[in-house]
Amino acid sequence: MPVCWLVSEERRHKPIQLPHLQTVVLGRGPQTTIKDKKCSRQQVELKAECNKGYVKVKQLGGNPTSVDSVVFKEDITGNHSGTKRPRESAPEDKESQREAQKMKAAKETEKVSVSVSPGEATKTSESVGHWSQGLKTSMQDPKMQIYKDDKVVVIKDKYPKARYHWLVLPWQVIPSLKALRDEHCDLVKHMQQVADRMVQQCPDSSSLSFRTGYHVIPSMSHVHLHVISQDFDSPCLKNKKHWNSFTTDYFIESQDVVQMLETNGRVTVKEGSSELLKLPLRCHVCRKELPTIPALKEHLKSHFPR
Ligand code: AMP
Ligand code: ZN
Repeated sequence: MPVCWLVSEERRHKPIQLPHLQTVVLGRGPQTTIKDKKCSRQQVELKAECNKGYVKVKQLGGNPTSVDSVVFKEDITGNHSGTKRPRESAPEDKESQREAQKMKAAKETEKVSVSVSPGEATKTSESVGHWSQGLKTSMQDPKMQIYKDDKVVVIKDKYPKARYHWLVLPWQVIPSLKALRDEHCDLVKHMQQVADRMVQQCPDSSSLSFRTGYHVIPSMSHVHLHVISQDFDSPCLKNKKHWNSFTTDYFIESQDVVQMLETNGRVTVKEGSSELLKLPLRCHVCRKELPTIPALKEHLKSHFPR
């Protein structure tokens, strides 16, 4: 059985063990070294499910709590938040939020998966603000969210490569496809179901086809399922890399990911996958080869008139 530890990124306190399925109450006090009075002595209740690699967090204190930049609020329950007690009238308490953010659960035996090891926690804090972390910011932004439930959130892709392009992201911190394991199967299936619902609700779903899948080598951190209409009619689609990332085997169908997880317990990426991005431009509908992106775009108009 793996062991869960609560680790302060800034090493403000010693790692605190979270025994499997035992409730641990933490807040202001010597154990956490938090002195700010706005943080209650019993600010949060934590319960680790070590085998699944997540920690349920219940806010007991009056002021807001956030974990891994997910601020507890009425309609967000993630793998971190489980149950919650929203206090809409409570004053913003940045300090106690920051303190709570610094607490991260670390699984001792596994580096991948949901939890953050001390090394990874450091990496996370260093890379905050880097462009590759942008999805983590967007997924928390209510203006970007178009659907959310207790497991996932859907946002519009900020640089859509087609008329409709959404991203489905789990609340659970999973850096990339490589970190997926068989225990994530249900989550990945749920992401697929949510993606299917997005398509069904799309006003153009009868005239456009959609694909749902992952880039084998993503550029952005935090695993995300692309839901993209196949018109590729967008000014943001600018180069060969963009085109080939959605129209070659660089794009791996969600069902194939589920199948790999079920049979191998992980997703295997073929060596040399990045070479796929250099393939000649070929129409995904009729397979005609086009010399340039403008020529390809012109050609696509015949398949997808507006
Ligand atoms: P991938 O190559 O699978 O990592 O694709 C990342 C996707 O995220 C691309 O389709 C980008 O257009 C999109 N993207 C990049 N930055 C942001 C952001 N800050 N918010 C939302 N979507 C983004
Ligand atoms: Zn064609």
